[in-house]
Amino acid sequence: MASTPLPPASSPAGIIDQFGRRLTYLRVSLTDVCNLRCIYCMPEDMTFRPRAELMSDEEIITIVRMMAALGIYKIRLTGGEPTVRPHVVEIVRQIARIPGIRDIAMTTNAILLPQLAEPLARAGLKRVNISLDTLNPRKFKFITRWGDLDKVLAGIEAAEAAGLKPIKLNAVVTRGFNEEDVVDLARLTLERAWDIRFIEVMPFGSEADFAQSVVVRSQETKARIEAALGPLHPIPGHDPRDPARPYRLAGARGTIGFISSVSEPFCESCNRLRLTAEGKLRLCLLRDGEFDILTPLRAGQPVEEIKRAILDAAYYKPWGHGLPDGVIPTSRLMNQIGG
Ligand code: SAM
Ligand code: SF4
Repeated sequence: MASTPLPPASSPAGIIDQFGRRLTYLRVSLTDVCNLRCIYCMPEDMTFRPRAELMSDEEIITIVRMMAALGIYKIRLTGGEPTVRPHVVEIVRQIARIPGIRDIAMTTNAILLPQLAEPLARAGLKRVNISLDTLNPRKFKFITRWGDLDKVLAGIEAAEAAGLKPIKLNAVVTRGFNEEDVVDLARLTLERAWDIRFIEVMPFGSEADFAQSVVVRSQETKARIEAALGPLHPIPGHDPRDPARPYRLAGARGTIGFISSVSEPFCESCNRLRLTAEGKLRLCLLRDGEFDILTPLRAGQPVEEIKRAILDAAYYKPWGHGLPDGVIPTSRLMNQIGG
């Protein structure tokens, strides 16, 4: 890496990359393990990393503390499925106590939320994004391979009852599986104050060919919703760091957004870093470049040195992904990054 001068690790300037983007948001994968097997995410016979390769609870807290000292204030816990990680409630509680952390959210399939939503909220979790690709139980089982739609719906209700609001629902749209179901999902926003976001499927590793064969562009999804439910009105004042461009149906309580990572990437306003479950800092979701934090931590390298190395690595966060040029990330599947 080039030796461009960098702010000291304790600098209040925080983590700023070579393009002047301020990185304040860290997505932490707690595990690569999941209780579902969504077709676009991983194969049914997926093998997971040995437990010893993953960050321990203490290592997660130590790394998040370092990142908070560097200016990260928003944390999203993800997976695999974060709720299957043992001690997830305690991990949330510890992160909530770290000085500088202002916001903790989670992305989850909601299967375990009926028992976990309340304790997670009490521990300091603020919000959840819940994955839900269809309201048809048969198709839900087909897409997730193992899932029971009723459990997810119960999880959504539990999250709302626990005050984990606003509820955001993520639907990955895949041709031949659920592209027609977007209408029923969008209709939910008429009655419920939920924010539903339709996501273009992205290609990773061994699942890349499949993903590329089923991708549905946001433009098509939007047109399908408007044809069935009427015009979608853009909501003014959109935060450019939010990848979902938000709209509302006339009279609706909730909103509808489109995350068009493939057709209209939002790299210019990207403020994210990702920490994989084995303690690697991934600089861009769709690029393989990573920086190992866990190995030096386990080797006893002083925290201040690791912080400086993080600043140095993050400085070289790439501008954007290379999908238009045919560059596909190959080193990991989505369950090993967390979205
Ligand atoms: N298990 C949790 C869940 O499903 O919400 C968290 C991890 S999951 C990897 C995070 C998000 O990535 C989910 O909303 C999921 O639908 C989405 N996802 C998984 N594979 C994807 C792919 N190939 N392209 C786009 N989104 C994907
Ligand atoms: Fe599991 Fe989430 Fe991947 Fe589905 S998308 S298999 S719920 S990690």
